[in-house]
Amino acid sequence: MDKQVVNKIVKETITNLHQKEILATPVEYQKEFCKISKTYNLSVNECEQFKQLVEKLSQKEQLEIESKNITTMDEMIPILLNRIATDNVDNLAQLFQESVTPSISIAIDEDLEKFSVKIGNSPALLFEDDIQKEMQEFINKRFEADRQVVKQKTSDVAKLLTLMGQCISDAIHSSGEGSQNVSDIKSQIESITINKNGLDELTNLQSKLIDAALSIENEMTNVGKQLNNGKSEVESLEQKIKQLEEELDKTKANAIKDHLTGVLTRKAYEDALKRIEGDFQRNDTQYAIVFFDLDHFKKINDSFGHKAGDIVLSTFAKILSKSTRELDIIGRYGGEEFVAIIHFNLKRELLKYLKRVKAIVTENKFVYKKDKIPVTFSAGVVIRNNHDTYDNAIQKADMLLYQAKADGRNKIILEDGTII
Ligand code: GH3
Ligand code: MG
Ligand code: MG
Repeated sequence: MDKQVVNKIVKETITNLHQKEILATPVEYQKEFCKISKTYNLSVNECEQFKQLVEKLSQKEQLEIESKNITTMDEMIPILLNRIATDNVDNLAQLFQESVTPSISIAIDEDLEKFSVKIGNSPALLFEDDIQKEMQEFINKRFEADRQVVKQKTSDVAKLLTLMGQCISDAIHSSGEGSQNVSDIKSQIESITINKNGLDELTNLQSKLIDAALSIENEMTNVGKQLNNGKSEVESLEQKIKQLEEELDKTKANAIKDHLTGVLTRKAYEDALKRIEGDFQRNDTQYAIVFFDLDHFKKINDSFGHKAGDIVLSTFAKILSKSTRELDIIGRYGGEEFVAIIHFNLKRELLKYLKRVKAIVTENKFVYKKDKIPVTFSAGVVIRNNHDTYDNAIQKADMLLYQAKADGRNKIILEDGTII
């Protein structure tokens, strides 16, 4: 610290006090000194210390210091002394007592009461080490007491909940003896002795659970009766379902087979073909597509009647069915058009099949009543392996059939030019 500056401040302090006619007591001197030292930008420990101390006080105390214009330590002492005034310590003692009284446990601790009275009588005791230790023990005791009660409460609730859970589960899962089980559980709930600690809510809960168990027990008895009644109804319904299933199976079979000719309907043929195409892609099987169309069928209808036409159609279909093996399929494509999928290994097997069908149809006369009806057909034949797709193949078969018609009918034309 610059001695000359300090001397200047001292001089100025005394002059100022003199001018203001204030006696230069230590307190007044310090006040003025600190004020002037500030104008010299001089930091003086004693002046700073006061400021730092004020910052550590409570807000209320700081406000009091400001309003009373207190600037020195000496003036601050009465405010600090207020802290241990009997009234304030009384409040503190009361607060302490409240904070260590268990809030859940209702047991009242006599020791605590005695201790509180002791502090109430001599509040200054609060500042003694031994007393503070004793306070700590009371705080621990309070936590322990509350903890015990919570533990007890939760274990009772858990017991009740377990039994109720069992009760509901039995009600759901059991049949005849259900109501007896529920009744047993109800007695168990009744027999739980709820800890005495004045836990009214738990006793309440217990009686509510007993009521619930009772109504479940009644429900179970009713449900049992209803189940018995319902049983015979279910049995007769089962019988009806069986009948319906059988009818459904029949209907399904009808939908697959064409009602007049007994061969596959167009839709059933397309479905069966998907399976055959699958096999073809996987196993490299070889099959031919034969597109049949009866010749001048319209004339047959016109000459012999529609009924006769029907007989010709069904007889022709029968000839096709009889000539094909299990693996092959026949479908009615349109009115008097049929498609056959014929699997074969060697081409001559395929030719043999085609020749046989043609021979059976042309060498025999179809008979209806007294009429003997001559029937011929035309057909186009392709081998699936010769085409990229099934669609291309059947299109080609259709073309060959058209060609057979154009060439005078009663012909089977293969894509390699063979004509049967
Ligand atoms: P093409 O040789 O060129 O095939 O001559 P088509 O007379 O056989 O051919 P068209 O297509 O002119 O006539 C087919 C006839 O088949 C017409 C139709 O009345 C008849 N038809 C279609 N379905 C049935 C059926 O279920 N029963 C009967 N009886 N006739 C049918
Ligand atoms: Mg036709
Ligand atoms: Mg025809």
